Amino acid sequence: MQLDSSVRYISGIGETRAKAFEKAGVFTVRDLLEYFPRRYENRGETRKLFDLPDGETASVVVRIDSAPKEGRGKSGKYYVRVSSSDDTGTLYMTFFNQKWIAKTLSPGRVFRVYGKISMGQYGRDTVNPALEPYIPGMKGIYPVYPLSGALTQSLVAKAASQALPLADEIPDVLPQELQRQFALLHKPQAIKLMHSPQSESDVAAASRTLAFEELTVFQLALRRMRSGRDDRVSHALTQKDTGVRAFFQNLPFPLTGAQQRAVKEIFADLQRPVPMMRLVQGDVGSGKTVLSVAAAYLCAKNGFQTAVMAPTEILARQHYATFEKMLSPYGINVLLITGGMTAAQKRNARAATADGTADVVIGTNAVIQSGVDFNNLALAVTDEQHRFGVLQRSALVNKGAGGKTPHTLVMSATPIPRTLSLILYGDLDISILDERPPGRQKVVTRAVSSAERAAVNSFLTSEKQKGHQIFVVCPLVEESELTEAESATERFEQIQKELPDFRCGLLHGKMKQKDKDEVMERFRAHELDLLVSTTVIEVGVDVPNATVMVVENAERFGLSTLHQLRGRIGRGTQKSYCILISGSNSERARERLDTMCRTDDGFEIARTDLKLRGPGDFFGERQSGELRFKVASSADMPLVEQTRAAVDVILENGLLEREDYAALRDATEKLWQDNLRGNTLN
Ligand code: ADP
Ligand code: MG
Repeated sequence: MQLDSSVRYISGIGETRAKAFEKAGVFTVRDLLEYFPRRYENRGETRKLFDLPDGETASVVVRIDSAPKEGRGKSGKYYVRVSSSDDTGTLYMTFFNQKWIAKTLSPGRVFRVYGKISMGQYGRDTVNPALEPYIPGMKGIYPVYPLSGALTQSLVAKAASQALPLADEIPDVLPQELQRQFALLHKPQAIKLMHSPQSESDVAAASRTLAFEELTVFQLALRRMRSGRDDRVSHALTQKDTGVRAFFQNLPFPLTGAQQRAVKEIFADLQRPVPMMRLVQGDVGSGKTVLSVAAAYLCAKNGFQTAVMAPTEILARQHYATFEKMLSPYGINVLLITGGMTAAQKRNARAATADGTADVVIGTNAVIQSGVDFNNLALAVTDEQHRFGVLQRSALVNKGAGGKTPHTLVMSATPIPRTLSLILYGDLDISILDERPPGRQKVVTRAVSSAERAAVNSFLTSEKQKGHQIFVVCPLVEESELTEAESATERFEQIQKELPDFRCGLLHGKMKQKDKDEVMERFRAHELDLLVSTTVIEVGVDVPNATVMVVENAERFGLSTLHQLRGRIGRGTQKSYCILISGSNSERARERLDTMCRTDDGFEIARTDLKLRGPGDFFGERQSGELRFKVASSADMPLVEQTRAAVDVILENGLLEREDYAALRDATEKLWQDNLRGNTLN
């Protein structure tokens, strides 16, 4: 077996299991070694039942009291239930669909049990906990892998431990010099400790090493992109005779000061012969769209085309309506291309793009980037919403007219603190919209505990009576529990019982596109009063009649995500409310949710999030879009700053030329090439 061997060569992995791994992106032994746990359970710290607050996830040592009972639940699910205890209380354990377990639960045996322990009617309760025969001094730290499809914890853990010896063949990327200077481990050692740590400090040292490498390579690749820009040529546009002043005067509103500054910066870039690479960062509703409309205007009046790419079809349509309304009075031809068009419609749209009849072409990233040829493209606008699809920004580099590179304008609705912008967007110049158009009303936000659900429901009833609509967003779930879709489905079923006269709908990511569209359409048409949903509604849903958003287990969301979610309401003239239901009483959870109640300034929220949670959330998989950081989400701010300083030193001194930096140079090159390959269009 070698690093590049298929995971099939690992014993215990046959065709079916290999397929499951492949679905999770694990093809080779090397992939498996780099398939890191998402977190660790410390089962070593055992607690007493009596001391456990309701709903705490913890490790306890209990003795089985009496023979287990077997049975079938309402839905026919087989279960085993058994009573156990320590010297402070009783714990009822229920295991679903684990037939074999009944035999092991003989009275008098002692187990270490790890799971979420709740207060039940007769004592404490836990469902499907992890169960191990108790041996004093047993191993305490357990990796928890991200799972998908048919993967299970034990399958991944066993496979990883078999692959572990091969970690020694994975070469170091960071040179010795950096390892020494920043007290990092060798890569093979770090990888081994990730999968098989003995203590929490092992995990910390290992993930610090791997995060250091990831962040360093990432920043080097971005800087490489930035320095490559000066070799490229773009069309230098002119403002002369374009009537751009009249365009601004005829807008339905005066620009805010922040918008004016951003326009100035964008227009200055567009008039230079090197490609603009500019990010407009602004809060939801800060008015980014009009900036891209103005840029497209200037471009069209110079005789060139603009491409506008949106992350979803809903947003593409929304942009189309905006651009069309603002630009068609000036004879500028705006075209929408969607996946749903008929073959003939697509053909026509492509032809109009290729021959230059269309001045502005709008579509999803996928549609625009696949087989659309432009006549004379000079500007590419990307609306990223909350995603950090960072390196893919080079996407349209080769699509420019006459061998020239189009100018690039990226719009991001995730306000992030400046220190992190410099890292995540190191290749871009940044314009910030830190001012919102006048006349917006603030969404009233309250954090409540789940004990107040009855009051929440009666509030929902009164809002419904006013003819308003409601979003209920269900939590991100931990892998041992329900999936996101299951949790939404469960809440949907409960809520129909709690609020029987509401017309309720359900929306989650596992549904077919057609069904999603249909539910959204019904909600928009007010055929539904209440929509239970996962975070799929985070982006681009615009239903002005929705005045209330309830977020379940709000403490599990990143503040930026909560902020984006809240942006879905308060879009009409009605007063709007955001209710954050918290399942945790911890000080930190309270502090975070209080931030949401206090302010609706995305930048302030981001700064607080950074302070309270560290930068992990910002590098988190959810927010990184196409770019996946494997371990950087565990990095803390000092590490982030160290890597930035290291990158400065490397570049200033040309260290990548040195032999001992060759592996780092190659890794940078690879990340850069992978991204180009993923995005370059023919
Ligand atoms: P976002 O930054 O979230 O993309 P949009 O560009 O969609 O925000 O703008 C949100 C709303 O604000 C739109 O309805 C837009 O017409 C309006 N808007 C933008 N700029 C101004 C302004 N300067 N004054 C008043 N309304 C504005
Ligand atoms: Mg927008």
